[in-house]
Amino acid sequence: MKIAFIGLGNMGSGMAANLVKAGHEVHAFDLSEAAVAQAVEAGAVAAGSLVDACSVAEAVVTMLPAGKHVLAVYGDVRQAAPTSAILIDCSTIDVDSAREAIRLAAEAGFAMVDAPVSGGVAAAQGGTLTFMVGGTEVAFAGAEAVLATMGKAVIHAGEAGAGQAAKICNNMLLAITMIGTCEAFALAEKLGLKDQTFFDIASKASGQNWSMTSYCPVPGPVPGSPANRDYQPGFAAGLMLKDLTLAMQAAQMADADTPLGAKAHALYDALCAQGHAGQDFSYMMERIRRGA
Ligand code: NAD
Repeated sequence: MKIAFIGLGNMGSGMAANLVKAGHEVHAFDLSEAAVAQAVEAGAVAAGSLVDACSVAEAVVTMLPAGKHVLAVYGDVRQAAPTSAILIDCSTIDVDSAREAIRLAAEAGFAMVDAPVSGGVAAAQGGTLTFMVGGTEVAFAGAEAVLATMGKAVIHAGEAGAGQAAKICNNMLLAITMIGTCEAFALAEKLGLKDQTFFDIASKASGQNWSMTSYCPVPGPVPGSPANRDYQPGFAAGLMLKDLTLAMQAAQMADADTPLGAKAHALYDALCAQGHAGQDFSYMMERIRRGA
């Protein structure tokens, strides 16, 4: 397929490279010339403009920072791309903007999905992302094969915006379980338990959870977790704060009560304000050990 790829940053660069590897003709565009040059090295065709990238596209894939970028970029995509092109936004953005972009696309005759990802830069490079997809059955069917090239799982979550909804609810839960796990380790330490001993018990008891057994926030028990490499990400605290902010916006919009989500947002906000936005989100362990 001829695929326009817009937004070749940390995530998009690896995803575009996997589309090239699968034999697609990828027309790459980014505001950063260095990002386009890197995509060309991986086998993509440089597009001089967004319009150039989209004009003959059978699919358009975007991986952009936030909702305002997505709404602006798709304003141009709708002008430039043939209406037969499937539009696929993989950015993590607010549910409202995702729904609005898809509504405007449908009005202009396009099928479009929101398809945010679970998995970080390594999964983007390795083609092992999980995609959570919102949109009509027809739009999902159009996007599925393209997404499967970049990931290990492609799940239809429901109508427009449902992919974003699934993503922020999952990450709100992840933040809460991470903070809870940090609190439990910190208290266990103060009560005289070794980290490994508490892990051996809790990982086989009812406190077991992913933040503990796959991503343990203390060094030792899970050798691959960021705690063992001085909390280099992984998944940066700043990105977790972004997702929690989106979750809080969505909770307000939907009139949902999320007291622990709100507390998690406040704790990650403080951690980032203290200069730790670039460290892994499991660095919360240090913050909890230290106390407020
Ligand atoms: P990034 O900042 O590295 O990349 C974004 C790219 O978009 C940049 O290269 C930027 O120049 C480009 N861009 C911005 N506006 C543009 C425009 N108008 N036209 C063309 N290009 C434009 O960000 P990232 O880490 O790749 O994240 C992208 C998205 O993926 C975000 O929504 C993020 O929340 C989500 N995400 C990131 C991770 C991660 O671990 N980095 C994990 C899951 C989801």
